[in-house]
Amino acid sequence: MPSDRIYLDHNATTPVDPRVLEAMLPWFTEHYGNAASATHGAGCDAASGAEMARAHIAHSINATGKDIIFTSGATEANNLAIQGVARQYAERGRHLITVATEHRATLETCEYLAANGWEITIVGVNHDGQVDPSAIAEAIRSDTVLVSVMLANNEIGTLHDIAAIGKITRERGVLLHVDAAQAYGKTPIDVDALQVDLMSLSAHKCYGPKGIGALYLRRREPRVRLQPLLFGGGHERGMRAGTLNVPGIIGFARAGTIAQNEMATESERISALKERLWTGLSDVATRRLGHPTACLPGTLNVIFPGIDARYLLLETPRVAASLGAACTSVMPKPSHVLRAIGIDWRTAEGAVRFSVGRFNTEQEMDEAAQLITAQVKTLQARRAVSVAEPE
Ligand SMILES: *Cc1c(COP(=O)(O)O)cnc(C)c1O
Repeated sequence: MPSDRIYLDHNATTPVDPRVLEAMLPWFTEHYGNAASATHGAGCDAASGAEMARAHIAHSINATGKDIIFTSGATEANNLAIQGVARQYAERGRHLITVATEHRATLETCEYLAANGWEITIVGVNHDGQVDPSAIAEAIRSDTVLVSVMLANNEIGTLHDIAAIGKITRERGVLLHVDAAQAYGKTPIDVDALQVDLMSLSAHKCYGPKGIGALYLRRREPRVRLQPLLFGGGHERGMRAGTLNVPGIIGFARAGTIAQNEMATESERISALKERLWTGLSDVATRRLGHPTACLPGTLNVIFPGIDARYLLLETPRVAASLGAACTSVMPKPSHVLRAIGIDWRTAEGAVRFSVGRFNTEQEMDEAAQLITAQVKTLQARRAVSVAEPE
């Protein structure tokens, strides 16, 4: 019953905006050419559509089209950035720096490199989930080639001070990669102002289709180079082989443009909805995780003490939210993000991440808050009874 569902999991993925779908449709059936087939009109149409979209996406982060490499999403972009730079600059040094609360796509790529001759420093965060830029500065060594820090955290919404980090990495001659999958379309991004060298983007976190994303790769001052992950065909200037996903690219660009145009009003509206939800939950939720101000507008990660959030979400099927101790595997384990901000495992069990988005309404916030509040009270009462009963 999708119409009945209250979808509050926009940090996991977003629905495709109908305007995005409409823009994509002709690129499946009418302009279906291969963008690499330059010998006929169908190929040229596809190529020019993709190039126009590339320019739009680049513009939205103050870059140019030539700086954009299309990928299957931010997971691939993070892999390409980190593995690609590590291999390219291995002669210069084999030390990389990242942060404890990064997405798995970053942390596991670093773990893979650590098992293959690179050294990784993982810098911690404070209780709000922010990394101290001076801690990054202290971690930089003479053999450091790359620092990888996300712009916005997917679990708690905290924004890092990328401008301060970019100033440090530029001064020290170290490359800076930023995973902006969660921030793109929600907060303004300027790769020059932030002094970022590589940036990962994903369409499906901003009302575009799944399976398409991009890596921004700075071409001058400094010119960043990398080793490709995929070979075969020389697409994307040899850095990412494979036939371009033209409908996806068109949808990605449309989604990016809509998000840019509506960012100011939407972030205000969505953050008001989030506050309404938080107010509605105030009877049963005790804590709100993440930074109080440097935070994504729609992300609300809260603790319901004394319950297991898995049962809460299972027994409240109308409300689609995530475990705060978010974990994509079947076996839940403590979230590395909550652990990094000092939440113990028992407390983390009661954490739920609500992420509000474009099509949510005030009424949905009120209904979700009522349903969750009632269920938390039921679970707390049940637990109180079972604790009171002798073994
Ligand atoms: C969703 C997400 C990713 C992965 O993006 P995909 O496009 O789904 O591969 C990476 N980093 C962050 C911060 C994310 O939120």
